[in-house]
Amino acid sequence: MAEIRVQNLRKEFGSFVAVQDSNFVVNDGEFFVMLGPSGCGKTTTLRMIAGLELPTGGRILLGGEEVTMLRARERDIAFVFQLFALYPHMNVRKNMGFPLLAQGMPKAEIRQRVEETARLLRIDHLLDRPVSGLAGGDRQRVALGRAIVRRPKCFLMDEPLGTLDAEFRDLMVHELREMHNRIHATTVYVTHDQLEAMSMADKIAVMNHGAIEQFGTPKEIYDHPASMFVADFIGSPPMNFLKFGGSLQKGAKEIVVQGASVVVPEIREDFALADFALGVRPEHIRFDDASKLRGSIYGTEYLGTTQIVAVETADGMLKARVAADLPLRMGEPVGLSFNAQRLSLFEKASGRAIL
Ligand code: ATP
Repeated sequence: MAEIRVQNLRKEFGSFVAVQDSNFVVNDGEFFVMLGPSGCGKTTTLRMIAGLELPTGGRILLGGEEVTMLRARERDIAFVFQLFALYPHMNVRKNMGFPLLAQGMPKAEIRQRVEETARLLRIDHLLDRPVSGLAGGDRQRVALGRAIVRRPKCFLMDEPLGTLDAEFRDLMVHELREMHNRIHATTVYVTHDQLEAMSMADKIAVMNHGAIEQFGTPKEIYDHPASMFVADFIGSPPMNFLKFGGSLQKGAKEIVVQGASVVVPEIREDFALADFALGVRPEHIRFDDASKLRGSIYGTEYLGTTQIVAVETADGMLKARVAADLPLRMGEPVGLSFNAQRLSLFEKASGRAIL
């Protein structure tokens, strides 16, 4: 397996910039997820790493070797389009051995490789079964086995679970991650689903309009979003934004929102008069009668261990996640306070985080 290094990677289609000067490193054995809304350039980036699309600028290094202009088949990678695409008339053994047969590998070696890979994926008991009779999860393992058996330098996957229903998808997310923990294959995985990304990734790149807005671990991205776009895209319900205007002084530890003073982490530089947004995740809001920041209960969504409470304030709706057994009445006036250590601050014009 190998490290993937992407330097100033760019793709233009005519005058349209689909990928803007991307930079990232996927370390050997890491599970890397490119996450973002439709059209943000994820697939184009993946196709450039695969060699299916040539960049208009920048470089791609695979295991330290430049592959930027190499053809797909010269790159030694496995592109998994659709995990369910198997040859239905062949048994598991033949399906898995097919890529090696196509490479001209001797039969005895193919047999050994296939059996080794099947043991790794715990499907060795299925080797002589026809794939047509297999359950979904086993078919998925066989399809992965067919990709792994070649021992490529890395795996590229483009929304491989995209067509599955929600329940099966959750199961497969878990399975894929577990398989990754066993084989440690460098993987680049594309999805627009933030929950999928958060539960599988070692590192995530959040993309927007062809650019990487933030690169980091799921925890870094969730706890310290670099922009309002990232804060809004990650988390369900997403981060709340409370608007306020004014100037901010370096060293200040309080701001005023809707007439109430709110304690924030220390401001690191001076900001001239501008519009800002205070970002607070739903789980960092508490109901607090003493707080001057007021609202009224608009609705609740019961989730078993917690409930999501919509609170109407002078500046719009906020969502709080509180204990499920907290008794609340519709229309009830409440005070709101925040966990000061977990707040974000953004400059509204640029959307960038300033804390
Ligand atoms: P999706 O999840 O919808 O596939 P994506 O983030 O993977 O979205 P891309 O498929 O990489 O996005 O596309 C990025 C942008 O580049 C889109 O606006 C798309 O229309 C454009 N694009 C992609 N391929 C081409 C092409 N061959 N010619 C012109 N424009 C293209």
